[in-house]
Amino acid sequence: MARVFSGIQPSGELHIGNYLGAVRNWVELQHQHECLFSVVDLHAITQPYDVTTLPQRTLDMAIGLLAAGLLPERCTLFVQSHVSDHTELNWLLNTVTPLGELERQTQFKDKSQRQESVPAGLLNYPVLQAADVLLYQATLVPVGEDQLQHLELMREIARRWNARFAPDGPFTFPEPQAQLTTSKRVLGLDGQAKMSKSLGNTIGLLESSEAIWEKLRPAATDPARKTRKDPGNPDICNIFTIHQGFSPPDVQRTVAQNCRTAGWGCLDCKKVLADNMIATLTPIRERATALKSDPKGVRRILSAGAAKARALAESTMALVRRQMGFLEPAED
Ligand code: ATP
Ligand code: MG
Repeated sequence: MARVFSGIQPSGELHIGNYLGAVRNWVELQHQHECLFSVVDLHAITQPYDVTTLPQRTLDMAIGLLAAGLLPERCTLFVQSHVSDHTELNWLLNTVTPLGELERQTQFKDKSQRQESVPAGLLNYPVLQAADVLLYQATLVPVGEDQLQHLELMREIARRWNARFAPDGPFTFPEPQAQLTTSKRVLGLDGQAKMSKSLGNTIGLLESSEAIWEKLRPAATDPARKTRKDPGNPDICNIFTIHQGFSPPDVQRTVAQNCRTAGWGCLDCKKVLADNMIATLTPIRERATALKSDPKGVRRILSAGAAKARALAESTMALVRRQMGFLEPAED
């Protein structure tokens, strides 16, 4: 049994890209491994954000994850800022992280372009992410494709730390591996950038059936299909990527065939997709409605999760502090 860690920012509404690329996988993994999942609020403050709505967004994200199928009895779900060891290890790992690697990260380049004044926290974002995973000595990290570069850097940080502070082994930090799903990169509704909470190009996981159709109807498809008679290529169509997440294999085959032969128009294809999305998402939305009526209960789940996470984190930190040579405080 491996230990699994992954996180999601409360930077906006949980969307179908998050679900297909990561969260759906979390729901499966909780039955196979020891899993920790976190609402990573400390990451979300690296972009401009509204202080007053952060608590509610954090709670809503936890509700979305529980509604999607995370079970408190099968996994540890907690809020990142409730376990302060994340920030301590972040600082320690900063001292072995090469600056050049941080500057090379695609996500940093993209997100820094969107900000007038770039905070150091945005540059150091992947170091905090390394701390999140290494704190629990986790070896498996289920994420979307956009996180692969950060995972590579995380492994480099683990290697450098081990080489410097545990040169004779056993290694304190195992090198974590990413785990992708078949829908590892869902594009936004414009078909341009990846679907992102911070870009406003999303279909929310908890949207009503009507809203799903309103968003799906005008969504971008293969540009080769200019008219109803032009055949398309499902392999480059974002709507087909979403079909792969929500439609059964036989429907996927029919969709691909009808796209290649122009047997269907894009709207026909989207109608089938909408039906399948609605079938999957309606029970999730209903569970979310029930959870929203009991915010205290959700907060209790998060507190219990933080307590479990803290126990694991504290034991890693005791080892790390010793290995890095810090003077222990006197007992009395
Ligand atoms: P933000 O725009 O604030 O970065 P986000 O939508 O990228 O938000 P994150 O919280 O950064 O969401 O990522 C949560 C998880 O969802 C990560 O594992 C990430 O790889 C995955 N993910 C995010 N967007 C997509 C996408 N479009 N397709 C597949 N996986 C995705
Ligand atoms: Mg992101």
